[in-house]
Amino acid sequence: MVAAIVVAEAAVLLLRPKERYPVVEAEARAYFSAAELDRATTFRSGQLWLFGARTVVELGILVLAVRYAPRAGKRPVLTGAAAAVALTLATTTVALPLRAAARQRAKDVGLITQGWDGWAIDVAKSTAIGGVVAAGGGALLVLGIRRFGRDWWAPGAAAVAGFAVVISYLAPVVLDPMFNQFKALPAGETRDDVFQLASRAGVEVGEVYEVDASRRTTAANAYVTGLGHTKRVVLYDTLLKEFTPAETRLVVAHELGHVRHKDVPGGLLWVALVAPFGTLVVARATEKLTRDGRSPVPAAVLSLALIAPALTMISNQLSRAVERRADAFALELTGEPEAMIGFERKITLQNVGDPDPPRWQQVFMATHPTTMERIGAALGATPRSGSPDASPGGA
Ligand SMILES: [Zn+2]
Repeated sequence: MVAAIVVAEAAVLLLRPKERYPVVEAEARAYFSAAELDRATTFRSGQLWLFGARTVVELGILVLAVRYAPRAGKRPVLTGAAAAVALTLATTTVALPLRAAARQRAKDVGLITQGWDGWAIDVAKSTAIGGVVAAGGGALLVLGIRRFGRDWWAPGAAAVAGFAVVISYLAPVVLDPMFNQFKALPAGETRDDVFQLASRAGVEVGEVYEVDASRRTTAANAYVTGLGHTKRVVLYDTLLKEFTPAETRLVVAHELGHVRHKDVPGGLLWVALVAPFGTLVVARATEKLTRDGRSPVPAAVLSLALIAPALTMISNQLSRAVERRADAFALELTGEPEAMIGFERKITLQNVGDPDPPRWQQVFMATHPTTMERIGAALGATPRSGSPDASPGGA
C-alpha cells in the first residue's frame, strides 16, 4: 500500500506541469454576495453529507458481501461474474434513496431540468452497462487467478491500463451517445472562433460538438474527450446559450490547452504507471479477505473500493495542476483576464458551486482549482496590451 502511494505520488511529480503561474490572493466576499455564498455552501455541504452516507452504505454492502461470499463451486468463473453483477445491482439499489435525495436537492436549487422518469431510465441504462462491465471484470479476475495464481496482478495491471485506453477511445463514440445527443457545432460565429483559436494555438482540435446537456441540467461545462480519431471538444448547449462569445472563447481556449498539452494521454500514462502497484495491493488484500472455498470477487471489489480513494486523491493533484496550466493557456491565448473573472463568477453561480471550499475538501476531492484560485490566476495574468476590455486596476 505504501509502495503504491509512493509510486502514485512520484508519477504525479513526473507528469505534472513544472511551470508556476502567478496567483493573486482574492477574497470570495469581493466577488460574491453573502446570500450567494450562503446558498452555495448550504447546497454543497448537504450534497457532501449525502455522498458520504452513500459511500458508507456501499462499503457496508461490500463488507457483507465478503462475509457471505458465494462458494466458488464447480463453475468459479461463472460464479465470479454473477457475484460481480449482484454487487453492482445491490450497491446501486441500496444507494438509490440517497442519490434521489441528492437529486431532489439539486432540483430545489434549479440545477435539474429532467423528470424522474428520465432519471429512472438513465439509472437503468448505466446500471446495465455497469453490470456488463462487472460481469466481464469478475470473470476475468477468476480466470486470471486460476491461470497465474498469486501473480495475477501483473497481467491484471496490463488489463487495467488496456481497458483505460480502450474506454478513452470508445467512450465518445459508444458510451456518451447512449445518454446524450451530440451534433457538430453548426457553421457560425462560435465555430469560426473555435477553429481560429485552434489555428492560432497550433492545435489539431479534431471536431467540436455541442451536447444537449440541457435535457438534464442547467449547469454549463465543456470538456475534451477521446483519443486519436475520436478526439474532440464538447461544449454544453447550456454554455452556448447562456454565455457571451468572449466567455465561450475562453472555455474553448481552456479545452484547447488540454489538447495542446496532451492531457488525456498524460492521464492514461499515470494510470499505466500506477496500475501494477494498485493491482498488487488489491491482489494481496483479496488474498487476505477471501474466505476458504469462496469466490474472491467480493473481496477484490472491497479491496479496490478501499484503495481507489487514496489513489484518486493523489491523481487529483495532477488533475488540478493540468487545469491550472489549461487556464494559463487560455489567458495567454485570449489575452482577456477580465472576461475570465466574469466567466468564473457566472459559471460558479450557474452551477451553484462553492467558490472557496474548505481546504480539506479541495485536497481530498477536487479535480480543479477553486473558483477563487482561478480568479486569482486571472488577476495575476497581464492583460494583452490593446485588449479592448482590459481595465487595469479593475475588480
Ligand atoms: Zn479543464
